[in-house]
Amino acid sequence: MREFQRVCLVHYHEIGLKGHNRSTFEMRLLRNLEAHLADFPIVTIHRISGRLCVFIREGTDYETACQTADVIARIPGTARVSCGYVCDRDLEEMYVAAERAVLDAGPFETFKVKARRNHTDFPVDSMQMNRMVGAYLCEKFPEKKVQMKGQDLTVCVEVVQGSVYVYAHSLRGIGGLPVGSAGTVVSLLSSGIDSPVAAWRIARRGAVVVGVHFSGRPQTAPTSEYLVDDIAHVLERTGCMARVYVVPFGDCQRQIAGLVPPALRVICYRRLMFRVAEALARAEGAKALVTGESLGQVASQTLDNILATNAAVSLPVFRPLIGSDKLEIIERAQELGTYEISSQDAPDCCTLFMPRSPETHAKLADVEAAEAGLPIEQWVSELVAAAELHDYRCPAYKPRKPQRA
Ligand code: ATP
Ligand code: MG
Repeated sequence: MREFQRVCLVHYHEIGLKGHNRSTFEMRLLRNLEAHLADFPIVTIHRISGRLCVFIREGTDYETACQTADVIARIPGTARVSCGYVCDRDLEEMYVAAERAVLDAGPFETFKVKARRNHTDFPVDSMQMNRMVGAYLCEKFPEKKVQMKGQDLTVCVEVVQGSVYVYAHSLRGIGGLPVGSAGTVVSLLSSGIDSPVAAWRIARRGAVVVGVHFSGRPQTAPTSEYLVDDIAHVLERTGCMARVYVVPFGDCQRQIAGLVPPALRVICYRRLMFRVAEALARAEGAKALVTGESLGQVASQTLDNILATNAAVSLPVFRPLIGSDKLEIIERAQELGTYEISSQDAPDCCTLFMPRSPETHAKLADVEAAEAGLPIEQWVSELVAAAELHDYRCPAYKPRKPQRA
């Protein structure tokens, strides 16, 4: 039987809604796909009307093409990816390509053909194509039935410009927008369950993520740093993770613990973390901070305490999980692949110098009074200078030279 070139068609949804910016979004997705598929047998990726088409090298088997589609499905901006063939604008070619696509797709009992043409210069309209391709497949697979609703298999035939794309295998993508289309955020990454999920939520909306992790070092072992590195590698697979700053925070915490009333310690730690994160954000050109907080989950996540912590910085602080329950967050972490890592116990600054009863309704005036006289600015500069940098592979990120505050 005649061989055709295999393709993966990448369908997007929201990019399609962007007016005059559309080509910028499409090109961003195209570049991200190129980078992720560097190790796959890809010839080229083109924009075709309302889709990206990944052309796969001749002689590649169906299994490898499906693996390629699996990778594409996980890249933000992909709403759906289909694995099939490209052929000439010729009915005979279309028939055989459809037969091939059906043979690839595995067992089925019922099917339907869904044809479309993006231009009326192709003389056969979509209804006629449905009928003609359907009739051919009925002849080739006489034991199979055509069914219009709830069919096992949908054979899609799309006439786009000079070519025809035919596929019967489609899978749902992660959706969202291509990483790099929404700027950069600084995400506070603990080694816990929540913050990686929060970072991922924002990344799926197109943001590049620069992480900052506060380690208890030198007052604790660096275990949490290894876990954060593992988490960053999981996020790296989606192309959103640019770099992580690791800040040894233990000594500062010890000083705060000795200088502020026990009930306000946690708020003061967190305000200092936010300030350091903001300084790093400015150096990175990032325009927001992100945390994994969820309303009421722990003492520091009450509205009063969130207000008091936010007051330490002027950048917006995004909390994508604010309305999520812990069980929902755990499910998302499992899907993302960070849950196992986050479930490991590691002392970090969160477990260090904790008061017995932290304030749950801090008043900003009290917090500011407790901080008066502390060398906050100096601590921020020292912590920023002490931050250690780890880089990850993020095609949408252009590294800036870190400017020390
Ligand atoms: P997580 O599961 O993300 O650790 P949590 O439920 O333990 O969250 P907190 O410890 O109050 O809650 O932390 C709230 C948020 O503050 C975290 O989601 C994270 O964004 C940030 N954060 C906490 N600890 C650290 C840390 N050591 N380094 C960087 N960010 C941190
Ligand atoms: Mg935590």
